[in-house]
Amino acid sequence: MKHLCKSFISGMILSAVIFSSCSHKPLPGVIITGQNNHNWPVSSEAIKLMLENSGLFSMDVAISPSAGEDMSSFSVDFSKYKFVVLDYNGDRWPETMDEAFLEYVRGGGGVIIYHAADNAFPEWEEYNKIIALGGWGDRNEDSGPYVYWKDGGLVKDTTPGPGGSHGARHEYVMNSRDRVHPVLKGLPERWKHAEDELYDRMRGPGDIKDLLYTAWAPVEKGGSGREEPLVFTVGYGKGRIIHIMLGHAGDSLEDNPAMQCAGFQVLMLRSAEWCATGNVTQKVPVDFPTEAEVSLRPDYKPR
Ligand code: ZN
Repeated sequence: MKHLCKSFISGMILSAVIFSSCSHKPLPGVIITGQNNHNWPVSSEAIKLMLENSGLFSMDVAISPSAGEDMSSFSVDFSKYKFVVLDYNGDRWPETMDEAFLEYVRGGGGVIIYHAADNAFPEWEEYNKIIALGGWGDRNEDSGPYVYWKDGGLVKDTTPGPGGSHGARHEYVMNSRDRVHPVLKGLPERWKHAEDELYDRMRGPGDIKDLLYTAWAPVEKGGSGREEPLVFTVGYGKGRIIHIMLGHAGDSLEDNPAMQCAGFQVLMLRSAEWCATGNVTQKVPVDFPTEAEVSLRPDYKPR
């Protein structure tokens, strides 16, 4: 009996070792949404689909009470997650959630700031440090400088004026400004993004850590006439933070070109892994867009 127990236990240990070395347990993440001036039911579902279809991530969706409702019951247990996707632009969270979020980020949590999440919370100082650049919500010179790319470097421009605008949606070329960051390593230096808004004239504390992509905002489309920073990491405590200004949600999962863009989906997938682990193991996919041609994944599935 004694012998049986021993071999049973060692068998258990062996199978546990085999299980842990052979299985790739999906990395747990949470999408925070529920209020947005955008179509959040579509954006949150699209993000969940593209991340989970890779087999690399398992996603929860934390949906806040509706705008104007009592927010006091809204909470997220950040300790359960390797990364957080912010798809939220609405009423302030309860103070306990603010504190829990800041503690999570300072302690090394991963955060993807997605599209209009950088419109949120203009008056919350720490949040604005985490996003580095924000727009709308009466942001102005008091929010921080305009930040854009000029003559081979980032410029901080303290000219007074409103923060945040965009011209008409169009396809545009993404220009990489970094060749070594895990999120864009191996990807082409220039690629065409599907029809989307191009956020410009953003302002904030502006402490960009690694600038990954900029794009030209043409005046003829209603843009700033500047090379705008659209994807970058931010230093805040030990957090791994990446800000992705792309991805305006469409009317439905089917009518959603900015989020169907293979380039956008690859950025989200790689950013999620980097946020969760500090590394990216994903290969460059066969359908990645080129400088000349947009590439879509209408099924939100990786290639
Ligand atoms: Zn938008």
